[in-house]
Amino acid sequence: MEQRLHESEATMKCVICRQGETAPGLVTVTLERGQTVVIMRDVPAEVCRNCGEYYLDEAVAAKVYRDADAAVARRAEVEILRYAA
Ligand SMILES: [Zn+2]
Repeated sequence: MEQRLHESEATMKCVICRQGETAPGLVTVTLERGQTVVIMRDVPAEVCRNCGEYYLDEAVAAKVYRDADAAVARRAEVEILRYAA
C-alpha cells in the first residue's frame, strides 16, 4: 500500500499531539488505493489516550497491508475485514 501507518515502539508519548501516552486497544484501520477502500476492524494497536491517534507494531502493520493488498488484487471497491491474529 502507498499509505504509511504509524508504527509503535512499546508505550510512548503520542507524536501527533505530544500530550497523550499510548495504551493498548483495538482500532479500525482504513486504507485506500486506487478504486479500493479497505476497512479493517479490531486491529490491535497502541492508542493515544488524548487524541485517539493509533500506532501499529510492525507485524500487525504487515498483516494489515497483506490483507489490504489481497482486496486490491480482487478489485473490490469496498472491503470490510476483521483482523484475525
Ligand atoms: Zn495524541
